[in-house]
Amino acid sequence: MEKPAYARVLLKLSGEAFAGNGTSVDVDTTTAMAHEIAQVHADGVSLAVVVGGGNIWRGKVHEAAGMERATADYMGMLATVINALALQDSLERIGVPSRVQTAIAMNAIAEPYIRRRAIRHLEKGRVVIFAAGTGNPYFTTDTTAALRSVEVGAEAILKATKVDGVYSADPFKDPSATRFTQLDYLRVLELGLEVMDSTALTLCMDNGVPIVVFDMNVPGNVRRVVFGDPIGTTVSR
Ligand code: UDP
Repeated sequence: MEKPAYARVLLKLSGEAFAGNGTSVDVDTTTAMAHEIAQVHADGVSLAVVVGGGNIWRGKVHEAAGMERATADYMGMLATVINALALQDSLERIGVPSRVQTAIAMNAIAEPYIRRRAIRHLEKGRVVIFAAGTGNPYFTTDTTAALRSVEVGAEAILKATKVDGVYSADPFKDPSATRFTQLDYLRVLELGLEVMDSTALTLCMDNGVPIVVFDMNVPGNVRRVVFGDPIGTTVSR
């Protein structure tokens, strides 16, 4: 039988992955995502998820409109909790056990983030959804993904996007843009490629966590990446 390339992965879903074609949260979209997760869960792969919140709120955008940055960022972290609960609901409706852990305590709706407990859940086959980012303003959920992946021992970060990898330029704007299949961290920084912000990327580099950027709109792609199919772009040493 085919064997997964990774025993434990961290899936990073940005806020836009929750919105479908509209804004906020689209239940059909979260249901489809849950099915993608269920496939790899059924293969026995240990799976943690970090959710973004950009479909609802982004701190920087509102700072530009005059808000205090820290307040706007806390609102962004709350937005990620909305997405996390939507994903949990979709997972549980199709029988995938899950837990949400938040970096900012809100005990009435989710567990607080406790690293050892998160690892225990993963060992027991539960999907763990990390919400509220790092709990600190001025950070992003990409940095959260880098941090949590190291903390729980994920072997790779699977970064789901709306394009099929990392390009030399924006493929939606520049038809001559070419896709990289493999990159090293420093090259990404050097070329200023949009993989993750530099804080997140540096953390991955320092700890040797590979990042696989792939298209989340193709059904079965999460499983393909987990089984080592050469789709998307891999950033590693
Ligand atoms: N955020 C934050 N600290 C964190 C993670 C997130 O302040 O550790 C805030 C920040 O305002 C950000 C928002 O939450 O804009 C939503 O997260 P992000 O932009 O990373 O979501 P994504 O782009 O993945 O949808």
